[in-house]
Amino acid sequence: MTKVEEKNAEQSYDVIVVGGGPAGLCAAMYAGRGMLNTLVIERGLPGGEMLNTDLIEDYIGFESIKGPELANLMANHAKKFGAEIIMDTVESIARRDDGDFDVITQLGKTYRAPAVILTAGGTPRKLNVSGEADYAGRGVSYCAVCDGAFFKGAVLAVVGGGDAAVEEADYLTRYAERVFIIHRRDQFRASPLIQKRAFNNPKIEVVWNRVVEEIRGDENGVNQLLLKDTVTGEESTLAVGGVFIFIGFSPNSGLIKGHFEHDAGGYIITDSRMMTSIPGLFAAGDLRVQLVRQITTAVGDATTAAMAVEKYLSEKRDREQEHGKQEKEAVAST
Ligand SMILES: Cc1cc2nc3c(=O)[nH]c(=O)nc-3n(C[C@H](O)[C@H](O)[C@H](O)COP(=O)(O)OP(=O)(O)OC[C@H]3O[C@@H](n4cnc5c(N)ncnc54)[C@H](O)[C@@H]3O)c2cc1C
Repeated sequence: MTKVEEKNAEQSYDVIVVGGGPAGLCAAMYAGRGMLNTLVIERGLPGGEMLNTDLIEDYIGFESIKGPELANLMANHAKKFGAEIIMDTVESIARRDDGDFDVITQLGKTYRAPAVILTAGGTPRKLNVSGEADYAGRGVSYCAVCDGAFFKGAVLAVVGGGDAAVEEADYLTRYAERVFIIHRRDQFRASPLIQKRAFNNPKIEVVWNRVVEEIRGDENGVNQLLLKDTVTGEESTLAVGGVFIFIGFSPNSGLIKGHFEHDAGGYIITDSRMMTSIPGLFAAGDLRVQLVRQITTAVGDATTAAMAVEKYLSEKRDREQEHGKQEKEAVAST
């Protein structure tokens, strides 16, 4: 190590967990409990998407719990077993020639470990239409729990057709007078139970086969959407006071320096141990290729990843000891 590298390498850990959502906190809990010296680097408060979720009603054992409350319980559980959680944004994860990883952060720190578990989740996908960026925070939102209360009595639009869109439309009717769900197809992808709740909600109206072409407004914020019929091509307008966009997530996998296997959407491909194509780099939760993205799947991945890290590190140690022994024997025989 050069002198500069030595100075910048703040601390070494057995494993570094990047992201403190349910996957990261669960991985940290297991790694800590397995007596691994564990660091979690989280750019905000621990909890990930749970902090944007009002009520969680499908995490087994908890019939109904507030997202931030579950986040707090998970963070405390991880800390109880010795995991250290710091607030910083990871800018890059790079594998060194010696096989260890350098995790470099926005605060200019370099943390080093022989194994990293990446659990950085995803970023909401944008519509990329005119007006979306202009009215962000002034009627354009990606988080119903964060912004819903600002729209008391308003007419709102929700864009999307998956679980998040339909569930959040239902949530928004607590505040809004009416919520239109704009969906580009003639049926939802959302689970039947979530759909049923929305269809039974008199404040919700579904606008099928339409896409948003433009978000319009004035100095007070959003006031109209320009829509296009996906079947006939016909254009129409819809007067709304806000639009909530739930059309998916882009995985935060761009932190990895160097080539790694991923699918067309950038979701990370792992083996059954949750190890990526880079030895020692594991991935768990929403940024991994998988059918379902839930808290249960995130913590399931994380459990496997943390256990696999323990095994990976002990095998690595055995290999290094064997290598050292062979080198000594070779020296002794010369
Ligand atoms: C509105 C909404 C409602 C939902 N409701 C439910 C529900 O009721 N039940 C359920 O099971 N699931 C629900 N989900 C899905 C569930 O929240 C996710 O599947 C789960 O949070 C994924 O966990 P994760 O740890 O993989 O990612 P995340 O929860 O996204 O956590 C990733 C963490 O990584 C951090 N991070 C990202 N980049 C960096 C970086 N560069 N440096 C440091 N930290 C970084 C982020 O700040 C974040 O805290 C909901 C999702 C949404 C959006």
